[in-house]
Amino acid sequence: MQRQSGASSDHQTTTNNIKECTFCQVENIESLTMKETQNLRLVADYAPLIEGHILIIPKQHYTCYGDVPASLDDEIYALKQEVRHFFELNYAEPVYWEHGIFHQTVYHAHLHCFPIGPLVYDLEQSGLGLRVHGQDNIRRWHQEHGHYFYLEDAHHGYLFPPNPEDYTFIIKNELGPAVAAHSNYKGWRMPQERQIEGKPLIASVMARWQTFQRNEQADALSS
Ligand SMILES: [Zn+2]
Ligand SMILES: [Zn+2]
Repeated sequence: MQRQSGASSDHQTTTNNIKECTFCQVENIESLTMKETQNLRLVADYAPLIEGHILIIPKQHYTCYGDVPASLDDEIYALKQEVRHFFELNYAEPVYWEHGIFHQTVYHAHLHCFPIGPLVYDLEQSGLGLRVHGQDNIRRWHQEHGHYFYLEDAHHGYLFPPNPEDYTFIIKNELGPAVAAHSNYKGWRMPQERQIEGKPLIASVMARWQTFQRNEQADALSS
């Protein structure tokens, strides 16, 4: 599903959609929730592309991370670091992906986290993406230009203007191959397929997360 709405109509869309928003109805994501902080939830994706596919979702309804206020920046950073540590112990380096309002199926900000890093394609040299440093850059770009999509690994973050060709390019040349390289699945599958095949992947990532959290707590107590 695609929607081409200008930044100015986002607020109207938001107000209309909160009641039907999947991520605002907590009961929809309760069983998939791995951790809660004051303003964020870490949630296993219900139709994972690979094991370890999880989401960072603000509790409050924002259309995208460019819309999230600066007061949450430190909390977002801390949770991303925790995901990174978890991924590196269990899978591989993280890649964070926000497909933005422009390619969203749920119109509530969410950052996809995949253990498929580091990125291999040279995005800087290609001139497709803009190097960004932190939430502040994303917020500013969003205020000035509107929609975007976003890709980050443990080393660099890139923001992209919502150009459908560039989006397809990134999926085909970066995300697709990285997911394939880290799983037994070849190519993209339909969400319905992933939902069925994803059940054991979700169970596994949640079990690993619990072990990770127990070990973190033990480390904290012993130091
Ligand atoms: Zn929502
Ligand atoms: Zn999404």
